[in-house]
Amino acid sequence: MFNIDTIRKDFPILGEKIYNKPLVYFDNGATTQKPRCVVEKIEQGYYTLNANIHRGVHYLSQKATEAHEEARKTVQTFINARSAREIVFTRGTTEAINLIASSFSDECMEEGDEVIISAMEHHSNIVPWQIQAARKNITFKVIPITEKGELCLDSYQKLFSDKTKLVSITHVSNVLGTVNPVKVLIEEAHKRGVPVLLDGAQAVPHIQVDVQALDVDFYVFSGHKIYGPTGIGVLYGKEEWLEKLPPYQGGGEMIASVSFEKTVFNELPFKFEAGTPDYIGSTALAEALNYISRIGINQIAVHENELLSYATARLKEIEGMRIFGEAKEKSCVISFLVGHIHHYDMGMLLDRLGIAVRTGHHCAEPLMHELGIEGTIRASFALYNTKEEIDTLIESIERVRKMF
Ligand code: PLP
Repeated sequence: MFNIDTIRKDFPILGEKIYNKPLVYFDNGATTQKPRCVVEKIEQGYYTLNANIHRGVHYLSQKATEAHEEARKTVQTFINARSAREIVFTRGTTEAINLIASSFSDECMEEGDEVIISAMEHHSNIVPWQIQAARKNITFKVIPITEKGELCLDSYQKLFSDKTKLVSITHVSNVLGTVNPVKVLIEEAHKRGVPVLLDGAQAVPHIQVDVQALDVDFYVFSGHKIYGPTGIGVLYGKEEWLEKLPPYQGGGEMIASVSFEKTVFNELPFKFEAGTPDYIGSTALAEALNYISRIGINQIAVHENELLSYATARLKEIEGMRIFGEAKEKSCVISFLVGHIHHYDMGMLLDRLGIAVRTGHHCAEPLMHELGIEGTIRASFALYNTKEEIDTLIESIERVRKMF
């Protein structure tokens, strides 16, 4: 059952006062707050289950290994992957994209080959490709967006050539909130034999993701944006792809045997997990996913959609309001500007009123150029936010607006 009062009690930080005002936390796109059970899992892990995993014969090491591998299965179930071998733990979305950019371009790309991305990508899905572009002389092509902030699908079709080797695109935009029609994008790419990577950083906390139903080749997300800890994230890859790609980093864990002459790499998924993994982080991430599953991702989506509609309607009542991103399918992220008030000024003054919003380019500078602006104010909601908090935001924006 979705009970907002019970849910809010799970997040102690929501009871904090900021400058003596109740905290209104609308910066969930950057990171979410953590429920008590996740923090307790971390504490319990270090207090009762801490030993390095995989190589130990002793009790604690075996228990910690079991917990880590159990966490992998939880992730597998959460996104409906075929096998736990398809789940690689990374530090987050950024590291997962860098891993694919590096290993995929090493194995599957030659000079002159192309990657398709979109105009609404986070820097994490631009810069890794730029680094590879410089190394291997590959290029990337960009799907433009419409005024409403949706991808131009006609243009997408035209970007393919016989040099296209990968489509790497965000599932949900962290600025516009657009939920991209990923099933169609994937089908179009697959018709041409091109695999697809989806950046799910802003999708998994809000909508049900089924990697098999999507038939996506790679899917990545970060733990900290889905009520889990920082420093842990996930790369899903179809087994046949992960088998084919070379390791990203070398070291412990990712080897089967090493001599000075030759190293035999470990099996999946360990081939991609060099060094001691964040085994406490993985179990805490699994706890976060279980927490969401107990509430129900679809229940969360209903609540968040209500918040989105309510906030959009109320924001539009404000004089001089400009909202960026009005896609038909939209997640609970609203980017806006008010009159000529600079986004930093608005953000700083809202902060003094206890409201946390994000301001700036949101790591999407090319999108800002496209929109012809320097930055926006971004309010992004989570399962624990309320309409009353949105009312506080609206009153506070009005207060700031009248000061200018
Ligand atoms: N991709 C998108 C769409 C994001 O919103 C973010 C973070 O804001 C990232 C990637 C990067 O995530 P992380 O910093 O957790 O690696």
